[in-house]
Formats: sequence, C-alpha cells, structure tokens
Amino acid sequence: MMKPQNARGVPLKDEDLKVGKVLTTEWRVKADYAWDCGIAIGRYFDGLKEGKILATRCRRCRRTVVPPRIFCEWCFKPMDEWVEVRDTGRVNTFSVSYFSWDMTPLEKPEVPAVVEIDGCSPGVGFMHLLGEVGDNLDEILRRVKVGMKVRAVWKPADQRTGAITDILYFKPEEE
Ligand SMILES: [Zn+2]
Repeated sequence: MMKPQNARGVPLKDEDLKVGKVLTTEWRVKADYAWDCGIAIGRYFDGLKEGKILATRCRRCRRTVVPPRIFCEWCFKPMDEWVEVRDTGRVNTFSVSYFSWDMTPLEKPEVPAVVEIDGCSPGVGFMHLLGEVGDNLDEILRRVKVGMKVRAVWKPADQRTGAITDILYFKPEEE
C-alpha cells in the first residue's frame, strides 16, 4: 500500500487532459432559461422603444420613481399611476472609466454617470453614459460637473429594441 508521504500531487498541464493522460469526462450543461423582467420593467422597456421614459408615482409618499416599481418601497402599497417623465436630467455623480463593462481596455474613456431624471423625485434616476463630453480625462473633467443639465440622445426609432441602450447616452444641455 502507498504511504501518504509517497502520494504527492503531480501538477497537470492542459495537454495532459487533452491527450488522455488522466481520466476525464465531458459533460455539456443544458441550461436553457427564460427571464421575465416583470410588469414594471416590461412596460418601462416598451416605453423606451417609443422614445419615452416612464415612471411610477406613489401619491401617499409623493414620490415619482424611475426605473418604475410596481409597489412603493417606502409604504409598500401598489403605485398609483404611470407618468411619462422628461428625457432630461442632472448629473448626480459620474466616473471616468478606461475599461468597458466587459473589462476591455479603452483608448477613449467612457463616462458612466447617475442621472437624476426631470419630473422624478429628488435623487431618483438611473445609471447611464455621458457623451459629447471630450475624448480625454482633462477635457472630460473640464466639461462634466455634478449637477450639470443633460439630455438623452436616442437611437433612431427603427433601431430601438426596448432596452436601456435605446438611449445611446446623455449629452450636456445648455442651461
Ligand atoms: Zn409610498
């Protein structure tokens, strides 16, 4: 019988697996799935396809929120109504990123920002990208300010798919 001290591990290389030096088994996962985004977000996406930003309102709490919720997370009552809000807003906060969402390094940085949407309650909005704000850090930091007014730049109507990317980015708007 092999004593434990003689049963040391042996490093394996990729090649060892390919040529069958060790026992392997191949198994492909069949993981088909469908994801339902729900009533509120479904209607929100339908609105985006039409070039509209839809929000929901709770009269009791006097709150208008986007992205819309089906119930108010303050009072836990169903939201009272749907409202179309504007496609303008103000920068709540922003960042300058040299990596895309999938960690690909970028030559020209992206500027993700939280935009508070006009017509919603203070502090309410969503994250998106800023555009037309410069190609390098100096330009971007000169142009972009917290509180600055921005407007959505939409994809052409026939290219919209009912997704948040139907808005290409938000660009600065003159006060
Ligand atoms: Zn409420």
